[in-house]
Amino acid sequence: MKITGVELRRIAMPLVSPFRTSFGTETARDVLLVRVVTPDAEGWGECVAMSEPLYSSEYVDGAAEVIRRFLLPALPKNVDAYGVGRALEPVKGHRMAKAALETAVLDAQLRAAGESFGHFLGAARDRVPCGVSVGIMDSVPQLLDAVAGYVEEGYVRIKLKIEPGWDVEPVRAVRERFGDDLLLQVDANAAYSLTDARRLARLDAFDLLLIEQPLANDDLVQHAKLARQLQTPICLDESIESAEHAAAAIALGSCSIINIKPGRIGGYLEARRIHDMCRANGVAVWCGGMLETGLGRAANVALAALPGFTLPGDTSGSRRYFATDVTEPFELVDGHLEVPTGPGLGVEPIPSILEEVTTATEWIPL
Ligand SMILES: [Mg+2]
Repeated sequence: MKITGVELRRIAMPLVSPFRTSFGTETARDVLLVRVVTPDAEGWGECVAMSEPLYSSEYVDGAAEVIRRFLLPALPKNVDAYGVGRALEPVKGHRMAKAALETAVLDAQLRAAGESFGHFLGAARDRVPCGVSVGIMDSVPQLLDAVAGYVEEGYVRIKLKIEPGWDVEPVRAVRERFGDDLLLQVDANAAYSLTDARRLARLDAFDLLLIEQPLANDDLVQHAKLARQLQTPICLDESIESAEHAAAAIALGSCSIINIKPGRIGGYLEARRIHDMCRANGVAVWCGGMLETGLGRAANVALAALPGFTLPGDTSGSRRYFATDVTEPFELVDGHLEVPTGPGLGVEPIPSILEEVTTATEWIPL
């Protein structure tokens, strides 16, 4: 596939409410979109990097810089999605930037071939059950109101963001208010250390599906030690940046569940590799979220339809984050989102909305 050029487009998406995690509070999503243009089709990739390097070392300005300065010059004249990863391998890290570029190439390739992301990746169902990620709140009553709203909307699983000082009490309150049948899990975004093991073990009383990333990103050995002290299964997110990391974490016993975010690990091809490896090892996976617009959400929903995604993902409806999405909004039906079936991502940006939220564009001919 011959690429004519690539557009880097920055958009600013106000969030419907501030989203607080253990590493910070977001009120708007600053997104880098990559549009790959070929003679036959165009493809979109959404970069999941945040404005600041707090979730991981990547950030939006850095991703744009590495794409224009190192990734695009490394692409061969003719390339398909499989060739992108190989061509970019000499550049260390920058997986979110690489994922955005590879996804845009894959989207163009699939649109040209008339094949959907779901079909290409191996989706086994036409809709996926949806969970929702609930940020840290100022008070427990405020949290209970928020959770009640999401339960009312039909979300089948609730995830609470936690941090030291906001863990046992809010989890207890949600469990007591909504009962034992509610699928409930927590995400610490690396906010604890192994010395907090006894406090974290108090969460065992609440029958959580999992505790996500309690310790630092590079603490696979300490996660394995913690896993032996908890009944609640440990799920890793930030720690897993590649299939090799996943294999190491499984071998060490650092986790028994993995949150797959394609952006974090370099793209949907690597996501499928991790899915296949986890499935072969009996490790459950689910699809996380990075406050994606409809473009990124479409690809995630397709991925979440693979057979090894046995837990509900953070693949929420558009209005969880945005009053107006850049695509037709994803809407929950009976707690599920439909897997798009059209060519490529199966969704398009709506031109007028895209223009409205765009803050900068840059055209790079190849
Ligand atoms: Mg997480």
